[in-house]
Amino acid sequence: MKADLHCHSNVSDGLLSPAEVARRAADRGLELWSLTDHDEVAGLAEARAVAEERGLRFLDGSEISVSWRDDASFHVVGLGIDPAYPALVAGLKGIRDGRDGRAHRIAAELEKAGIRGAYEGAARYAEKASIISRAHFARFLVERKISPDVKSVFDHYLAKGKPGYVPHEWASVEDALRWIGNAGGVAVLAHPLRYRVSRDDLRVFLGEFKDCGGQGIEVACGAHSPEEVKECARLARHFGLKASVASDFHGPGESYADLGMTPPLPDDLVPIWHDLV
Ligand SMILES: [Zn+2]
Ligand SMILES: [Zn+2]
Repeated sequence: MKADLHCHSNVSDGLLSPAEVARRAADRGLELWSLTDHDEVAGLAEARAVAEERGLRFLDGSEISVSWRDDASFHVVGLGIDPAYPALVAGLKGIRDGRDGRAHRIAAELEKAGIRGAYEGAARYAEKASIISRAHFARFLVERKISPDVKSVFDHYLAKGKPGYVPHEWASVEDALRWIGNAGGVAVLAHPLRYRVSRDDLRVFLGEFKDCGGQGIEVACGAHSPEEVKECARLARHFGLKASVASDFHGPGESYADLGMTPPLPDDLVPIWHDLV
């Protein structure tokens, strides 16, 4: 099964519309695909319609931001969810409302660093989106020639310890996994080696994630090196989690990997779609 179960449209911080991402997924030969916008489900109906028209199996998804302990945050992808499930809809709206407050605080911090008008600038890039994310700020800073590309904006302005960083409280792990589970979906830890936590803390988190009903972990990640893929596979085996495949595509030229450009899953792992399709 050629699958890609993690990517974004302009409903959150991607560059293409849900229909454009769906067409690209079909053109790139995927057989199973999910759109997983940050804390949002608004693009799913459009994505599903185009996917089904093209004979592409589609899973409704969303990538939910969660906080853990003092100041760590993780991303949990819900797959096979019912996007109309009321507690999920309300929970995601709560996170999006919090994101707007965060966007104002990021802009205030950037202003202290001499960068003016960042909220309005980021909002322009978030025109079709219901959230303003750090990627939108990054595009504005690139436009202003403050940094050469989105990645260096994150490294120099938006990451922890940098001038535009603000701590933020997201959903709890328990809440996010309850919304996903009650909406009929499965919860998958996104890009496991892209968090600013120690390997020991990652393992503690994964234990709690599993205890709360988490079922999967991204193993074949577009952003991970071959060694990192192996490490994720070991985590999947150790915690008895199913394995997912994820390009985390945001748009042409802005992502590590295009749709479907993911490493192969190790043969011994159970794919996350085993019980979903
Ligand atoms: Zn993520
Ligand atoms: Zn993502």
